[in-house]
Amino acid sequence: MTKPVLYIVIPCYNEEEVLPITAPMFLQQLQDMTKQGLIHEESRILFVNDGSRDHTWDIIQSLNRSDRHYQGIAQSRNRGHQNAVLAGLMEAKDRCDVTISIDCDGQDDLNAMQDMLRAYHDGCEIVYGVRDNRDTDTRFKRFTAQAFYRMMNRMGAEVIYNHADYRLISSRALQELARFHEVNLFLRGMVPLVGFRSTSVYYARHERLAGKSHYPLGKMLALAFDGITSLSVKPIRMVTITGLLISLISFIGILWAVVTALRGRSVAGWASMACIICFMGGIQTLFLGVIGEYIGKIYLETKARPRYIIAERTDEMKEPGMEEPACRM
Ligand code: UDP
Ligand code: MG
Repeated sequence: MTKPVLYIVIPCYNEEEVLPITAPMFLQQLQDMTKQGLIHEESRILFVNDGSRDHTWDIIQSLNRSDRHYQGIAQSRNRGHQNAVLAGLMEAKDRCDVTISIDCDGQDDLNAMQDMLRAYHDGCEIVYGVRDNRDTDTRFKRFTAQAFYRMMNRMGAEVIYNHADYRLISSRALQELARFHEVNLFLRGMVPLVGFRSTSVYYARHERLAGKSHYPLGKMLALAFDGITSLSVKPIRMVTITGLLISLISFIGILWAVVTALRGRSVAGWASMACIICFMGGIQTLFLGVIGEYIGKIYLETKARPRYIIAERTDEMKEPGMEEPACRM
């Protein structure tokens, strides 16, 4: 069995509180897996600093000085979790055989990595980490999360239930993922589209070890909406069908109105008229919004802006010829 080089990709945004606690846990896990012969000694932990405003990057740099297994790249500004994960995966893909992406807050059980690697050794190119319960979540979070997955699937964006961004992807699958050029990223929906042999690994999810969540309800709704509109055109189709239905009902209504008028029985119905006008106004504005959402996506895609920009790198993450420029007088 050849030992694969693993890169653990970890996005970090304002995580100075939790990083000093979890970084040694990641290193310990890396060493355990090396000892078990699951991975090569040259495996690395790759932190992606997502434009943090606190000391996160300083911590990553000092971790790197203390042990070369810790490496890091820093985005030029905050671009959000999905872009940070993609940056890490894309930077890792030519340096390793396999990657595992995981959050840096210690919520996901690190031991699941061993099961993921065993599945990889059995020939799987993608292994999804799926949380097997939500006991540690508040009832509200559990309810909204469940609604999130249900809505996503109903709207035609296929996602794996209770899987977030804790997953193993082989570099072979990443080479293919790199050919998905979209700038509206929703990795949970994109990765299954890459295909290849895949499986799921179940694990318990804990509470954050320190610091606080960056995903309040508003951001989660935005993520769900982004996910749906970047993966599926079902909402547009639903708009068309509803439009057709309303037109049909309106047509019957008009016929009825004309017939009553001809029979001389029409009554001045201000209330019903007002209701219909309001209803139509509302529906039309809403639907224009849905269509506008897609146009916005097209707008962003046609610009084809870079999906991530790396401003700083630790030693091993530098490309050849990328040494810091010598200071010129
Ligand atoms: N994160 C990031 N950029 C952001 C927001 C979050 O890189 O703009 C990282 C964050 O540091 C963490 C992961 O994404 O490692 C998940 O964030 P968080 O734990 O706050 O979300 P939750 O687990 O509560 O959904
Ligand atoms: Mg978290």
